[in-house]
Amino acid sequence: MTTATATGMDLQLDRVTLSYTGTPVIRDLTIDVRPGEILVLTGPSGCGKSTVLRALAGLLAPDAGRVLADGDVVTTTSRDRAVVFQDNALLPWRTVRSNIDLALKLRGVPRADRRAAAERWIDEVGLTGFGDYLPKSLSGGMRQRVQLARGLAGAPRAAMMDEPFGALDTQTRATMQRLLIDTWDAHPTTVVFVTHDVDEALLLGDRVAVLGRAGQPLRALVDVPEPRTAVERRATRAEILTALEH
Ligand code: ADP
Repeated sequence: MTTATATGMDLQLDRVTLSYTGTPVIRDLTIDVRPGEILVLTGPSGCGKSTVLRALAGLLAPDAGRVLADGDVVTTTSRDRAVVFQDNALLPWRTVRSNIDLALKLRGVPRADRRAAAERWIDEVGLTGFGDYLPKSLSGGMRQRVQLARGLAGAPRAAMMDEPFGALDTQTRATMQRLLIDTWDAHPTTVVFVTHDVDEALLLGDRVAVLGRAGQPLRALVDVPEPRTAVERRATRAEILTALEH
């Protein structure tokens, strides 16, 4: 059954219906997330983007349909499927190094190797020298870097990211987007990234899924052309905006 590659995980939503209280938030949604791609989920506020991430992470069981990871039905969370939240998911009493160390420990990295591995991650996300800081002593952008490092240090084969840069200022956000692309290049994994920002979707996504309200869960699934010339980008942007306004 397993079709795993060394890199990203294959994730499938197969005619999935999701609800919290019995009223479907997502109805009959089918999306195949390709191994190693960055799939962006966008759509109007409240359409169910975070809900879909929860289902992929194994935090919410579907009412109908199936969520599959490398062909196996997802029934619970797994370290292979990491979740990176917007903020405040760091342990406040642990230092930067110790937060990252925990992810490595959970992954089973031996203690002797963890110190150097944590230090590498700290360098990789541009926080050299900040290993001993507590989260509260860092800026929002720096905390987000730690979250990215912690999320990826566990070497997940898929990472679900829920508007991770949504609270950052424009400049920090641009830096983090670049960092995500560079980190993802160095540690290929399947990424499902939620944003309501079309430009962020175009910058990061290999494909962009535009979700709508219940009843029309998938309005469009758009390939972002590569290499991304200005003309192609404009055309793709227009396509996404049309689907959003639909
Ligand atoms: P989005 O991420 O697209 O903004 P969400 O997935 O957060 O949308 O929410 C989709 C719908 O589900 C909304 O109507 C929201 O109110 C509802 N919802 C989200 N989380 C819960 C919850 N824990 N319990 C009940 N309803 C929820």
